[in-house]
Amino acid sequence: GSFEQLGLGPELCMALKKKGYRFPTPVQRKVIPLALAGDDVVVMARTGSGKTAAFLLPVLEQFRMGALSGGASGLNADAVAIHGPGPRVLVLSPTRELAMQTFRFVREYSKFMSTIRTTVIVGGEPLDAQFAALSSNPHIVIATPGRLLQVVSEMKSKYSLRQTRVAVFDEADRLFEGTLAQEAKEILALMGGGGNTAQLKRQTLLVSATMPKSLADFSRFGLRGGEDQKF
Ligand code: AMP
Repeated sequence: GSFEQLGLGPELCMALKKKGYRFPTPVQRKVIPLALAGDDVVVMARTGSGKTAAFLLPVLEQFRMGALSGGASGLNADAVAIHGPGPRVLVLSPTRELAMQTFRFVREYSKFMSTIRTTVIVGGEPLDAQFAALSSNPHIVIATPGRLLQVVSEMKSKYSLRQTRVAVFDEADRLFEGTLAQEAKEILALMGGGGNTAQLKRQTLLVSATMPKSLADFSRFGLRGGEDQKF
């Protein structure tokens, strides 16, 4: 199988070829078609499996198909009026290093898709630059939980996570464990329930090397703000 056969368009395939990717990895073969169809997906994969491309490529392809960029830049105009603009795609990473790495992958994979704007929001960087970055309303936001919460809460009604159309929880076993868990859950609450009328349906991609029972239960019942959810 090739990347084309998985449903990816010429811009992405060209970028992958440039990167020297010849064939999709097993996890990419499984995940890309499901995620392209808009399904929620739980991906059990560790670093080295090609997991990052497995969730980024279908997300980027959805922009090309117009699924995330139609209408008012893919945002619900009424909801923008009420809540302010926000990301179409939010990728949460447990560490600054992972977020930066994911950001670099997005830049490389999307280099022939000039309209997609992406920013990374992590601790240790100047806050002013991050306010400015979110004010320009990028399509994709890659972030660590603590700094994202801080920036979004300080921006008040000028920015909102409520309209996030695709939420990616990378290394979810680390995101939903220990001190990060509270912050990750606060971000979920800020995204709101998927059934909210002012909000379009949200796709959730959960990526984890391990699947402790607590995370499996949470992915079934907790990820949509309590809405019954099958994965
Ligand atoms: P990850 O599992 O996302 O951390 O990726 C591990 C490494 O595999 C990264 O250096 C990627 O650039 C590389 N990679 C991802 N997908 C492919 C592929 N289909 N062919 C070759 N290398 C890949």
